[in-house]
Amino acid sequence: MKDLTSSFIQKVLSRYKVEQRKKVILGFVALFALVTTAVIMGLPAITATPELICGKEEHVHTDECYTEEKTLICEKEEHIHTDECYEKAGKLTSQAEDEMVAEISYEAGVVHDGSSFSVKLLKDELIEVENKDVTGLHIYNLSLIRNDKFVEPDGIVDVNISFKEAIAPKDEETEWKLYRVEITDEGKQLVDLTEDKETVVHVDKKQAVTEILFKTDTMGEYALVGENERETETVAPETKKPIVENKITSETTKVKDESVANKSVKSFKQKANGITVSVRANEGAFPDGTTMKVKAVKNEKVLNNAIKAAGNKKAKAKAVDISFYNKEGKEIEPASEIRVTMQAKEVKENENVKVVHVDDKNQAEVVKNTETADQVTFKADEFSTYVLVYTVDFSYGEYEYSIKGESSIMLSQLLKRIKDGC
Ligand SMILES: [Zn+2]
Ligand SMILES: [Zn+2]
Repeated sequence: MKDLTSSFIQKVLSRYKVEQRKKVILGFVALFALVTTAVIMGLPAITATPELICGKEEHVHTDECYTEEKTLICEKEEHIHTDECYEKAGKLTSQAEDEMVAEISYEAGVVHDGSSFSVKLLKDELIEVENKDVTGLHIYNLSLIRNDKFVEPDGIVDVNISFKEAIAPKDEETEWKLYRVEITDEGKQLVDLTEDKETVVHVDKKQAVTEILFKTDTMGEYALVGENERETETVAPETKKPIVENKITSETTKVKDESVANKSVKSFKQKANGITVSVRANEGAFPDGTTMKVKAVKNEKVLNNAIKAAGNKKAKAKAVDISFYNKEGKEIEPASEIRVTMQAKEVKENENVKVVHVDDKNQAEVVKNTETADQVTFKADEFSTYVLVYTVDFSYGEYEYSIKGESSIMLSQLLKRIKDGC
């Protein structure tokens, strides 16, 4: 966690990083932002320093370089460093044996001159993810080498990984995660980079991975892992939830309209945090080339706000951040209302699931939704975090249960009551 926090801070800081030389005014603005950020974060600022690559010494002839007869006696060459004398921003690319291509791009001074970048596919590794079945596993080793030594970048690099052939999942339930493999005293540990807002795992309609984008300041092992929820021994509900009838008619009409009128309806599907998000957007809602990004949201404040808005303090919450990007990678909102479906185990197992929208200012609002067997559907034109708020039914393997008319009860109390017959 500490690691995620510090790398997040570095990311924030790196956004404000501006070439120091000669850009005085910009420099002051950046410095202000940097200092403000550093003060807020309570950490020192980190900036990369581009190294000199001209190999020359700065020198301008002075009177001492001449004799009284104005003959030059100085052996030094006149030279004043310019931008050309320093390392520049750049890119390095490498290809793994499975034709995965990794590219790192960096700002001036982050990767030093004479470094080479290499990526290797590691096959003989095993990874265990708690409570998940691993259905896909690709581990790569990223390394930077300078003067025959492994080195780390002096700041954040943007990593772009693309696959010549999309990596297909075992089934469409697969959720893709990108982990950094951290080597600690207790062995290898996984740091989930998918939770990072800057990480994007692009999938096609079949949930196959086409491209991965992330930021890092650490080379080493990275694992792309396809995960499926492991079936746990929970008691299945006696009856499946009845389909909510009232809103179905209008939904059906809507679908019919779309199929007739729109040939360029756009649909997206992605899974994160155990929630499968499917979106259907009418023609004109998004430009061509739009992509959707779904991320797990685990921020306690956001979840608590949603629970408060839903009006049940004992409820539980699970959230995702949904966002859309145009071809150029700029975040966009739909031009008109679109239909969103969230499918999750929690919806299937619990009744009265509420959908709460939490905006960037952390304002929470309950969204009108239709709930069917294992999914909720709603319409929206503003995107950020959507939270599923649910109360846990007592046929499930949780330790706290909610019972009508009572706030909550512990499993032990419940069992005691059943035994005592009250
Ligand atoms: Zn001189
Ligand atoms: Zn120079």
